[in-house]
Amino acid sequence: MSELDFSKVRGRIFDIQRFSVHDGPGIRTIVFLKGCMFRCRWCCNPEGQEYAPVTLYEKDGKQKLAGEDVTAGEVMQTVTKDMYYYQRSGGGLTLSGGEMLLQPDFALALLTLAHRMGITTAVETTGYADKETLSRLLPEIDYVLLDIKHMDPQKHLEFIGKDNKRVLENAAFIAKHAKHTVIRVPTIPTFNDTDEEIRAISRFAASLDGVEALHLLPYHRLGSDKYAATGRTYPMGDIPLISGEKMRRLLACAQESGLPCQIGG
Ligand code: SF4
Repeated sequence: MSELDFSKVRGRIFDIQRFSVHDGPGIRTIVFLKGCMFRCRWCCNPEGQEYAPVTLYEKDGKQKLAGEDVTAGEVMQTVTKDMYYYQRSGGGLTLSGGEMLLQPDFALALLTLAHRMGITTAVETTGYADKETLSRLLPEIDYVLLDIKHMDPQKHLEFIGKDNKRVLENAAFIAKHAKHTVIRVPTIPTFNDTDEEIRAISRFAASLDGVEALHLLPYHRLGSDKYAATGRTYPMGDIPLISGEKMRRLLACAQESGLPCQIGG
């Protein structure tokens, strides 16, 4: 496909955040694609889960529509505004969501256009797709930030809506074929915040050929207001945050795997 053709590929997004220093190296622009196959109870972007546009009714009475159809070329016009910062910091474009794997043609167009413009690429992903889709996308991805949330299929199903079989199978495939793979573990109270579970995930991550590091992402409640704004009840209720002391203990458990580990990422 020519550059012109890629720039015309249409997709649906719900946000673009510039100047992010998370979600990949350097200073990055994060593009949030609509739609996700999971329903994690702690999801901080509930407006991104459904592919259909969602109206947020905010406290000040304003309404905001989450979900806009755009072309890859239009998105890249925003992304390229910060070329100077990418070049200075080693940053670039990150696709997030939602789950970019639900819009593979659009994701491929964005990633390819970025590479053609000399911009590095990263994705935040569940890895939940068929191997053909992964094989199409991986050559255009520099950094895969791959979520592994739980090793127990039943617990995964209970808190996320699907079991983990495909995620774990694909994790091995992605780690083997991606240029750089970091495993990210959203660390969630009442779900996976035990020494045993963090050890199990970390051991699994370390067993994969190609994983470079593991990041523990502490639970936060930053998205809880969005549930009210979309007429939903926050599924995590009042469950408290994990203390810094406990996060440091979980980090020590993860480090037993031998992988470079950190809190946050
Ligand atoms: S995978 Fe991410 S976007 Fe999808 S429901 Fe879970 S936290 Fe939300």
